Amino acid sequence: MGNSKLVDYAIISPNKSSPRSHTIKKITIHHMAGNLTIEECGKMFARPDRQANSNYSVGTDGRVGMYVEEKDRSWCSSSPENDHQAITIEVANCTGAPEWRVSDAALEKLVELCTDICRRNNIKKLNFTGDTTGNLTMHKWFAATACPGPYLESKFPYIADEVNKRLSPAVPPADGWK
Ligand SMILES: [Zn+2]
Repeated sequence: MGNSKLVDYAIISPNKSSPRSHTIKKITIHHMAGNLTIEECGKMFARPDRQANSNYSVGTDGRVGMYVEEKDRSWCSSSPENDHQAITIEVANCTGAPEWRVSDAALEKLVELCTDICRRNNIKKLNFTGDTTGNLTMHKWFAATACPGPYLESKFPYIADEVNKRLSPAVPPADGWK
């Protein structure tokens, strides 16, 4: 457990269920539907009337925010069942509707963050199945929302592949790579 050392800025939100009721088995990637910095996003989630947050965020600049510690359940995906088992991550958008793109820097840091979450929580593989049977999930499966948006959604298979490569790097031959 613990929290990620990739965090650049932390402001802990009062909106959460503490502690979470399940071990961490999943990751749910969201989009912010906006281009907030990790500080702006944290200030929004710090408001008790907001009734929402995420465990982490990634800004367009590739920096990482933390708003709910991993030991606690964030209020993020409209699904207590999912969020008690998931680390939730909000990713900033560098363009608006309809595509809601995220920057390359954000995408790379997102892969690093997911890899770190899997390593520390003993998740051997990030399995994107396209439905709730896998352990990489999306908000729109639990509520009427566009989240995570077409661009980020299209990257879910890539994110899972990249994370899995980093979790289980190919074993070099005995005489090393030539
Ligand atoms: Zn969402």
